[in-house]
Amino acid sequence: MAENPYEMALKQLKKAIDVLGYDRNIYEILSKPQRILEVSIPVKMDDGSIKVFIGYRVQHNNVLGPYKGGVRYHPGVTRDEVIALAMWMTWKCSVADLPYGGGKGGVRVDPRKLSMGELERLSRGYIRAIAPIVGPDIDIPAPDVYTNPQVMAWFMDEYSKLKGRNVPGVVTAKPVELWGSYGRIEATGYGVAVAAKFASRKYGLPFEGARVAIQGYGNVGYYSALFMHEWGAKIVAVSDSKGGIYNPDGFDPQKVKAFKERTGTVVGFPDAKKDITNEELLTLENIDILVPAAIENVITSENADKVHAKIIVEGANGPVTPEADEILFKKGVVVVPDIIANAGGVIVSYYEWVQNMQGLQWKLDEVLRMLEDKMLSALDKVYRKYYKLGSDLRTAAYAVAVERVVNAMKLRGWI
Ligand code: GLU
Repeated sequence: MAENPYEMALKQLKKAIDVLGYDRNIYEILSKPQRILEVSIPVKMDDGSIKVFIGYRVQHNNVLGPYKGGVRYHPGVTRDEVIALAMWMTWKCSVADLPYGGGKGGVRVDPRKLSMGELERLSRGYIRAIAPIVGPDIDIPAPDVYTNPQVMAWFMDEYSKLKGRNVPGVVTAKPVELWGSYGRIEATGYGVAVAAKFASRKYGLPFEGARVAIQGYGNVGYYSALFMHEWGAKIVAVSDSKGGIYNPDGFDPQKVKAFKERTGTVVGFPDAKKDITNEELLTLENIDILVPAAIENVITSENADKVHAKIIVEGANGPVTPEADEILFKKGVVVVPDIIANAGGVIVSYYEWVQNMQGLQWKLDEVLRMLEDKMLSALDKVYRKYYKLGSDLRTAAYAVAVERVVNAMKLRGWI
């Protein structure tokens, strides 16, 4: 059963609070976001009509530093979903040892149906609407599902105009020509690949030749495929919202991407042995590693039993529900949770922000080396907790994350 993401986030938090032995008061504080802003954004459409879109910015907790998190444009955006995503950002920034709290934004819209002009007017309208509560030392947006560096450039430009000065540090994942960091575009996928390789080693599964299925072929799915392929794994299945493709001999991720850019989907790629559905991709036999890299709620109590992968690496936020987690844990499937597996994006966002503050631009190899270092030390910390607790990896990652947040709240005198 598909679950309300906020309910999911609360169940995960509750489990961590219990494992850490914290009392109910801590749960009470952390279960609610500090601030929720709902805005309506009137946009002049190309045909002259006005459409009003609903947007949110949720700020969950800023004990560790300014709120940080992406903005998604998706027809399924709800208030509860954005709350969950903001809360997940608090844990993600905490476990990755970043000086940030958690926030998230969303607009209920299908951006694929907008012209470039409409998308630009919507983006400028959204950032104007949330401008009173964002800023480089307050809350720093970034991309998420269906937003990209171009949207960040509009956010940055509009915010700067509003302030009457150039404010590059207000958003991250900007184009490299506009104070963006090298490596940010590939960062999340790169981090997913690092996490997959790390988890394989711990599992005793050779990464060389490991069979990988990836759901979602956007920024995260593509770069995960690219680096895993480069490091010797075999990408045997990929999909997008229109369907998937399978070839036991493996795909060349760059060729699949070029095909998708030309046709709008991976479906129909000439090297495919057969077409598969998204549901079939998740439950494929003969795969070792599964990377759900699309949206939340795709591995549920209904299909968890049928998952054949040995390791799941969560490229997306919230793809596995708590019920599915339990089923997978009993089956011995290792789930590398989103808050660590896809932290590469926000890690390089942090590096971009640091560069913006200092007026510097670091080299790509330097950024990727620092990203790998941070991913590995976070993974190491989580695995140590995992062995200590004998729990699943998600609970271990949450324990690390929640502990740091609670310690900071104690030190600041919030509790
Ligand atoms: N939206 C991404 C995430 O869920 C990136 C956030 C960021 O870079 O601030 O982690």
